[in-house]
Order: sequence, then structure tokens, then C-alpha cells
Amino acid sequence: MAVGVLALQGSFNEHVAALRRLGVKGVEIRKPEQLDNVTSLIIPGGESTTMAKLAEYHNLFPALREFVKKGKPVWGTCAGLIFLADKAFGQKTGGQELIGGLDCTVHRNYFGSQIQSFEADLSVPDLVTKEGGPETFRGVFIRAPAVIEVGPGVEVLAEYPVPSTNVLYSSSAVQIQEENAVPEKKVVVAVKQRNLLGTAFHPELTADTRWHSYFLKMGSDAGEEASSSIVQVGGS
Ligand code: GLN
Repeated sequence: MAVGVLALQGSFNEHVAALRRLGVKGVEIRKPEQLDNVTSLIIPGGESTTMAKLAEYHNLFPALREFVKKGKPVWGTCAGLIFLADKAFGQKTGGQELIGGLDCTVHRNYFGSQIQSFEADLSVPDLVTKEGGPETFRGVFIRAPAVIEVGPGVEVLAEYPVPSTNVLYSSSAVQIQEENAVPEKKVVVAVKQRNLLGTAFHPELTADTRWHSYFLKMGSDAGEEASSSIVQVGGS
């Protein structure tokens, strides 16, 4: 058994490469029946409306929802986080279909458009406790969403301080407002809820594999045999 990577669109190659660096086989998932061959799943970043349309075209929604409901580990990065959330809204949301399961509301493009993409060092205490390494993790935010509401069972793993100059979208999702925010205002950018993990940024675009390693351990914690979810790639 191996780790599935939803390969409809977006940064799935980069996730497969990050898994390979850890000696783990990533299996590209494009059809519902392929989910039977994996014990956990990564949903990459990309564009969530397009991903939803392709998932619908390939009739993947029932199998994806079933996978989440069975308690199998699923990690969404950026567009993947949006896809995994129970609710999403924000600029250009055309009522796209979501997998759901992660009890939170995600604001698409919270930090603005492509040119407002940025990198930042994030403090992620749980990651450092479990994986060691440097005190911070380099977050790559590309047209990134933020989690603006979390349900009671959701653990906040990382927050990002909103700069006072940042342009925020109003909760009406219609108007863009210049918000003179209090400097210490923070938004949630990484969450965990039982078998589900969500990051608003892209660990697969960095050389740091701690998030992938953290996710693989969630697979083992969820009662899966570690050896069944991790397939060593020969020679690496
Ligand atoms: N903003 C994109 C969306 O709404 C996500 C961007 C990303 O995955 N880098 O789908």
C-alpha cells in the first residue's frame, strides 16, 4: 500500500517527489478505484475550482468523501485545503463543490491575488516537537487561502500575523477592503482534525520534508500499520 496523491491538476508531481525523498512511494490518483490501493491521500495545491470540475468529470467525489469518512489520513495543501473544508468562500468562488470533512471555513485567496504571493517563516510548535529541525518552517503562500473559522475538534497548528498593510477581503466576499488591522491580528494557516491535515501554504515546494513526514506519522497514528502505508522505494 502507498500514499495517494490526487493528480488532476496542480503540484502533484512535487508531492510525489517530496515523498520519494523520504523513501515513500506516491501513487497518482485520477480514478475512483485507484483510491482502493492507497492508505492515505494528499490533495495538492493548484486551483480549487478547476480541481473540483475535474473531480466531478472523473466521478471522484463519492469515493473521495468515502475515503475521508473512513478515517483515512488526508492532507490538503492550499487548493487542497479549500477542497477538504466544509465551507469555502472568497473572491471568484463560483459555488464549487467541496469534498468536505474538515470542520472549518476557508477563505479563498485571503491574502490577495498572484502578485501578493509571499514566503514567510512560520512557527509550528507541534511540527518541531514531532519532527525536530529548525524552529520555523518556510511557508510558501501562493494566492493562498486562510482558515477563518474552526470547529471544536480542530487543532490550530500554525497562524500567520496579518501585516497592517495587507489587503483583506471582507467577509461578504464581495468588497475588498483596506483593513488597518491591529498588528498582532493573526489568521490560521495550518490545521489538524483527527485524520485530516490542512495547510494554506505549499510544503511540497520546499526542500524541507518535515510536513510530509508529519503526515506519514498521522497515517501510523490512525491505526494503520506503518509498514502498510509506507512503501520503500528501491534504491533511494
Ligand atoms: N487560490 C487558489 C484556489 O482558490 C489556491 C491557490 C493554490 O493552491 N496555490 O484554488
